[in-house]
Amino acid sequence: MTTQDWMRIFEAKGGKLNRRDSWRLQFDDSLSPDKPNMGWKMYKRSACARFSCSTCKRTWPSNRVMVIFHMRLSRGQGTVKVRRFRQNCKECSEAPMEEATFSTDNISILMEKLVEKIREKCYHQNLGKKNRFFRNIDVEGPHEEAHCEACQQGTCSMNQTIRHF
Ligand SMILES: [Zn+2]
Ligand SMILES: [Zn+2]
Repeated sequence: MTTQDWMRIFEAKGGKLNRRDSWRLQFDDSLSPDKPNMGWKMYKRSACARFSCSTCKRTWPSNRVMVIFHMRLSRGQGTVKVRRFRQNCKECSEAPMEEATFSTDNISILMEKLVEKIREKCYHQNLGKKNRFFRNIDVEGPHEEAHCEACQQGTCSMNQTIRHF
């Protein structure tokens, strides 16, 4: 899935956010997992995706792919910055960190949740509880902390299950 797919899905889900405001999505790998800048709100969650090693071509799934969003609404312009945490191969030594590949379904669910968070945090709407679950991937073995960028930065949802929104 390319960046364009994320943007297209975000626009489809977020189009009805507010008539007067326009929202855009940007990728930013330097986003802080802890403190958004002044005036920005944060939403952080783990999602399901696959990785592929560029060295040995091995692929692996993970249900703990951390995704962080920072969002701000300012004078009719809404901005969402996204960071997707990477993982690296446990078989190769000094394997590079790889980008996650998300299914369209899981991007859609992520974008739906994001739009809900924007309504709550940027428009102060109270939305009650409605949960939609990710399509979990069958993962063999435990989460590989040593190979997860989010774990290395202390922001992985190791203790959160996929059900906690
Ligand atoms: Zn490898
Ligand atoms: Zn982790």
